[in-house]
Amino acid sequence: MTPDRKIKIIASVAWALFLGILELPLRLWRDVLAPLWSDPLRPVWGLDPPAPYKSQRQHDADVKEIIEHLKKARESGKEVVIGRKVGEGHSARSGRYKEKAFRVDMTKLDSVLELDVESRRAVCEPFVSFSALSSLTLPHNLLPLVVPEFRRITVGGAIQGLGIESTSYRNSTFDTTLVDTTLLTGRGDVIRSSEHPRLWRSVPGSNGTVALTLSTEVKLTPATEWVRLRYVKYASPLEFTRESNRKVEEYNRGEKEENWIGNDKLMDGVGFPWGTIGMFGGCVTKEDARRLHRSGMPIYRQGPASDLYYRHIEDIGKGGGHVTPEAFEEHLEKYGELLHEELIPTPVYLFRYDRGGFWGITALPKFFPSLASLLSNRIFHTVLTTLVSTATLYKIAMLVSDQTREGSAILQDLDIPPSGVKKLLRWNDDTLGIWPLWLCPVACSQDKRTFGLGRSEDIKSVEDMYAMNVGVYGAPSNGGYPLFDANIQLEKLVASLGGKKALYAFVYSDREVFWSWYDAREYEELREEYGGKNVFMGLWEKVSKPMG
Ligand SMILES: Cc1cc2nc3c(=O)[nH]c(=O)nc-3n(C[C@H](O)[C@H](O)[C@H](O)COP(=O)(O)OP(=O)(O)OC[C@H]3O[C@@H](n4cnc5c(N)ncnc54)[C@H](O)[C@@H]3O)c2cc1C
Repeated sequence: MTPDRKIKIIASVAWALFLGILELPLRLWRDVLAPLWSDPLRPVWGLDPPAPYKSQRQHDADVKEIIEHLKKARESGKEVVIGRKVGEGHSARSGRYKEKAFRVDMTKLDSVLELDVESRRAVCEPFVSFSALSSLTLPHNLLPLVVPEFRRITVGGAIQGLGIESTSYRNSTFDTTLVDTTLLTGRGDVIRSSEHPRLWRSVPGSNGTVALTLSTEVKLTPATEWVRLRYVKYASPLEFTRESNRKVEEYNRGEKEENWIGNDKLMDGVGFPWGTIGMFGGCVTKEDARRLHRSGMPIYRQGPASDLYYRHIEDIGKGGGHVTPEAFEEHLEKYGELLHEELIPTPVYLFRYDRGGFWGITALPKFFPSLASLLSNRIFHTVLTTLVSTATLYKIAMLVSDQTREGSAILQDLDIPPSGVKKLLRWNDDTLGIWPLWLCPVACSQDKRTFGLGRSEDIKSVEDMYAMNVGVYGAPSNGGYPLFDANIQLEKLVASLGGKKALYAFVYSDREVFWSWYDAREYEELREEYGGKNVFMGLWEKVSKPMG
């Protein structure tokens, strides 16, 4: 990275810290003082300001500019990438692939064009973040069907990167919940996904290499300002997977309700070496929240002095929590034991892992060994993650070289058919020993997808219904295992299990192996047909690890 680029990143981290400090009094009031002095159940509608509105006319003018920019890019003969700066998104890859490319700047597309509460739809530009979108829709008791858990993940990024979260065991990836999406082809044509279903099936997960997203109509569904969450202990991630199998099958057999309100609307888990905690729940009405709170159910908030969320889970796993005997009986899971129940303001629930990027922050000392004692200090984690979001942590991580980052930690999300989870866990134990692991079941979409989790019409068993997303984030505890070899082994293992890895991370396998994981012919044909070939950078070229 050029010194100039480094200085820009440091300046933008410093700016984020400054804004975080300015915001502190507001957060202190909202998250600590107001709940003490006034109604503890007063609603928190959002952690960030709501997305701004933009007129269709202004949007059309902005799109025209982007089309002109794309035309210039074609004339230059250079390959096109999105002109976001290094560390602005949530990729574990550096921006080296962008160095010789033509950057098309689309960041003006950051507003909402329409919110129709009646028909439960929001038309969004791609650079609207989920935090800004949910701050806009939640006061209307509505949320998208899938809300990825980092505050600054954008709608466009979640389409092109297959966004998931705890509603995904029912609602699949974010892109499958959209009504219609406007795309810009390599030829400069503006088209709608509904009129080009074959093309659309190859867009999600393609990382902007098939077509660019200009706007999208997001389906919204009823939600409330409170989540009731229960924490259940399982012996291992395998037991949690068995529970997921049961719940996914049950859901697939029953009436498919899409809303956030109810008992088993949310499901994810965190695996620790000593056991796995599954989190289940859904939104409750304010009246129910009040009744439950009066009967002793605690409220979890993330105030300025809060620890990272995964440590909250760990404390519950080791020390138990609040659970009434009735709830214990009522919620006796098949494989696990109910440890704790709590209420969480919905925006805090949605972005609970944003603090520290799950536990990704614990890898920072490996990137900057000379600052290791400061960077591994829990108080420092609390202060830093109070002030800045996960997006800024990525910027900090981008200050070191790819070699240092990739040589000291792993950040991978792996979608594995449920029967393959055991082998993946064994491999992790034998090689890296990375814990905790994030576990998030994701339903397969109902049509074939080039990069997503599509399935055939023929559902024979739970294996065809969903994949377990296993998030492996952090530095190996087994020490000394060469991570280059581990990455190659991991990619082979995931492919042999019939799984997929998330492409926000580097791909280590060569081009031929990479394309054996996907329908390369379909991808190339569509790039040819819609003018993406020789205009947008190819997918392998974008995600493969640069050597040296
Ligand atoms: C450790 C880690 C954990 C993660 N966990 C989760 C998770 O639990 N759930 C989840 O949903 N995601 C998760 N992600 C992945 C994240 O959602 C994806 O990387 C997502 O694509 C990031 O979106 P972004 O808005 O930050 O966009 P960026 O990172 O800027 O972009 C992502 C890709 O989309 C392309 N793109 C962006 N906008 C457009 C557009 N308008 N048109 C065409 N292409 C575009 C970019 O070129 C890029 O290839 C995780 C990532 C990491 C590193």
